[in-house]
Amino acid sequence: MIDYSKILNTIHHEATTSKDRGEIATYIPELSKVDVTKFGIHLMDIHKNEFSSGNAKEKFSIQSISKVLSLSQALSIIGEDLWKRIDVEPSGDPFNHLSLLELENGIPRNPLINAGAIVVADILVSKLKNPKEDFLTFIQDISGDKSINFDSKVAQSEKQTGFNNYAAANLLKSYGNLHNDVDTVLDFYFHQCSLSMSCAQLTKVFYIYMNRGKCMQNKTYLTTSQVKRINALMLTCGFYDEAGEFAFEVGLPGKSGVGGGIVALLPNNYCVATWSPGLNKKGNSKLGMLALERLTTATQQSIF
Ligand code: GLU
Repeated sequence: MIDYSKILNTIHHEATTSKDRGEIATYIPELSKVDVTKFGIHLMDIHKNEFSSGNAKEKFSIQSISKVLSLSQALSIIGEDLWKRIDVEPSGDPFNHLSLLELENGIPRNPLINAGAIVVADILVSKLKNPKEDFLTFIQDISGDKSINFDSKVAQSEKQTGFNNYAAANLLKSYGNLHNDVDTVLDFYFHQCSLSMSCAQLTKVFYIYMNRGKCMQNKTYLTTSQVKRINALMLTCGFYDEAGEFAFEVGLPGKSGVGGGIVALLPNNYCVATWSPGLNKKGNSKLGMLALERLTTATQQSIF
């Protein structure tokens, strides 16, 4: 029997004594207000046992972690047709890079970089009756947690400085890979990125990816094949141009966001989330990556 409580407390202690915590993202002004000393870690196993340490119940901006959720809802609605508009290869470039988009005629490399997530947002805007509300309901349903919500201040803040995403959306539009109005799609995208959750809530939401598409209430939202595809994308594309490093150090599929959150999972076993707002040079949470490396090393468990 693995003593997760002891392992998480040791990781937390190590994190709080760390001198180099990385840098907070400032390009979305609202994110720059967060306290860099925050650190939380929460693990939920397949039997719904929960283990926690640090600021694991405090909400933060999940940012790009939301791309896994919008992809899931879009896949559950349009199925394999989605791959006609988005590829499934790692980009090897930062999350907001635009050059590949031009080279590859408006087909984003994968759904977890910004351009790919903007195409996914376009699909949801086309398919959902009330896009923002229906997306939020999807997340509240899979987690069984009605308190999850957008942070409109963060969405507004990103709207004012999101020039790069406007450029990506306009490029997609020029290649015919954006069917709705740029402003409408980006309004949806900025809201999905503004979702606010704690580490504990993130593990409830991501339970379906460790449990073959079934949520904590045992309802099926994704097929096993869709879960396979999403977990494969998290492993190969979930950490910007550091996905190789994360697989190498941690060995789990996962996704990070510039709010400093990371969620990762061991299929059929556990789901874990960390939050430490300081980022490394590649935009991933510095202490979060370190913490998850410690976890899989101490437990000697990974997908490999
Ligand atoms: N909303 C952020 C952006 O589009 C998400 C970036 C991230 O978390 O990787 O720039």
